[in-house]
Amino acid sequence: MDGDDDLADRARKLFAGPIDFLKSAPELKFLPDPDVPEIAFAGRSNVGKSSLLNALTNRKSLARTSNTPGRTQELNVFDVGRPPQIRLIDMPGYGFADAPKDMVRRWRYLVNDYLRGRAVLRRALVLIDSRHGFKDVDREVMDMLDSAALSYHLVLTKVDKVKPTALATTLEATAAEAAKHPAAHPAIFTTSSETGSGIAELRTAILEAATT
Ligand code: GDP
Repeated sequence: MDGDDDLADRARKLFAGPIDFLKSAPELKFLPDPDVPEIAFAGRSNVGKSSLLNALTNRKSLARTSNTPGRTQELNVFDVGRPPQIRLIDMPGYGFADAPKDMVRRWRYLVNDYLRGRAVLRRALVLIDSRHGFKDVDREVMDMLDSAALSYHLVLTKVDKVKPTALATTLEATAAEAAKHPAAHPAIFTTSSETGSGIAELRTAILEAATT
C-alpha cells in the first residue's frame, strides 16, 4: 500500500468511527481549547453544507440545516475521533436574501475573528452549488480567506443535479476563479451528498490538511 492509499484508508477508518457534536460557539471565547486541528466549512445558505457534513460523517442528522435567517450565528463544532483528532467547524451560512444588515455585520465579525485568531485552523472548504456557480458573496468570502492567508479548497456540491458537460464547464470556471485567489488551492472537489460521489476523496483531503 503506498502513502496515498494509506492516507485514504486512515481517513475512511477515522470517519467511520465516533463523531460527536461538541458545542455551538456564538463567540470565539466559547470555542474549545485550541489543541486539535480544525477544518472550517463555509457556504451560502442552501448550498448543501449540512448535507455534506452528514455525508462526510456517515450520519443522517449530525448537522442540522440552517435555513432560517433569524437563527443565531454560531460556529458549530464537531469532534472527529474520540479523543478528537480533527474538529470540523460548521460556519454559519451566508448570502440569505434580504438578510438584515446587522446580521451580516455580526456574521463578518464572527467569521473574521475566527479566521484570523485561531492558530489550529488548518484549512477551509468553500462550498459552491454546482447548479448556480459563484455569486459575488462567495467571492467576498474568498477575499476574506485570502486576507487571512488561510488555505482553502473550493468544493462543488450537488453534482448529481448537473449533466457531465455542464459540470465540466463549471469546473473550468471554478479553476479560473481559484487561480485569481492567492489562498485558493488548485485542487477542486466535486461532491454529491446524495450519491456519495467525491465524499471519500474529501475525507482524505481533510485528514491530509489536518495532519500535515
Ligand atoms: P445548507 O443550508 O447549506 O446546510 O443546505 P442543506 O444541506 O440543508 O441542503 C439544502 C437543500 O439541498 C436540501 O433540500 C438538500 O436535500 C439538498 N441537497 C443537499 N446536498 C445535495 C446533493 O448532493 N444532491 C442533491 N440532489 N440535493 C442536495
